[in-house]
Amino acid sequence: MSKIPIIGGEIEPSQLGRALMHEHVFVRTPDLQEAWPGFMGFDEEAAIADAHAKLLAIKASGIDTIVDMTAPGLGRSIGPVARAAEGTGLQVIVVTGYYTYTDLPFPMKYNGAGKMFNNDPDDRFLVDLFVRDIEEGIEGTDIKAGVVKCCTDEPGVTPDIERLIRAVARAHLRTDVPIMTHTHAKSKRGLDQQRILREEGVDLTRVLIGHSNETSDLDYLEALLAEGSYLGFDRCGLKVDEPLEDQQATLVELCKRGHAGQIVLSQDRHCTTDWFPEELVLAVLPEWRHDFVQTDLVPGLLANGVTQDQVDEMMLRNPERFFSARA
Ligand SMILES: [Zn+2]
Repeated sequence: MSKIPIIGGEIEPSQLGRALMHEHVFVRTPDLQEAWPGFMGFDEEAAIADAHAKLLAIKASGIDTIVDMTAPGLGRSIGPVARAAEGTGLQVIVVTGYYTYTDLPFPMKYNGAGKMFNNDPDDRFLVDLFVRDIEEGIEGTDIKAGVVKCCTDEPGVTPDIERLIRAVARAHLRTDVPIMTHTHAKSKRGLDQQRILREEGVDLTRVLIGHSNETSDLDYLEALLAEGSYLGFDRCGLKVDEPLEDQQATLVELCKRGHAGQIVLSQDRHCTTDWFPEELVLAVLPEWRHDFVQTDLVPGLLANGVTQDQVDEMMLRNPERFFSARA
């Protein structure tokens, strides 16, 4: 596989252009929508129209590609995402894997490695689901996943999270699509992910450790970089775990130390979600916008000694290198 699957086809890595490497079109809770239609005011048709307008604005701002990191568990639903993206000119890469901080859903819990009802030590049950999205297509469409994702948050490596990381590693080794993660940076979860992925034989240069902007612990970040992984400064504009000034200062320092070649930028911002009302998001987290990287972060970096070439490295050349690398 040398081409990268996007919604509506596939592209060469050189066609990626400027990329936001971790965003979301929709983040939804299908269970709750099914039980209580309209939960949190979510209206699918309105959400698609709203997302379409936001994706058009992202494209107009000079971004060519986004990675929509909405995996199963976060309400991935490929039909509405494809409709929102259609006609925007924005290239959207979608993902497989599973989103959870602690436990897999019961059917996955009871089948697979070390399980009473279906004990497959290789956990092919789980791996095959991810490979199906990568090789055959998602939800019966011909849209294929270009990334495989796992999460390790504050609760750490629970038994199911360990299974998930190992299954993601095996799906990567079978298909060669890169691995991108969610971490809780303050508790250094990226190191746990690297350890388990390494045990599975993964080349850690094929791994992007997400949400690494949510700490100013340079020793932790240097340790991740030393193994060759990419760091996602991919929650820019989000100041829940770390003040924005500190995030920027940390990024400036990493660039000064010569690490711009291993860092990518993004905001982790959804277009529409049923997690919280948009008015409250805008009121509580006013900087968390789809244009924060270009309108706030990059000017701040340039004013503090980061070069335009380093910005281009992070937004343009690193995504291309990350997606074109093959084992
Ligand atoms: Zn995310």
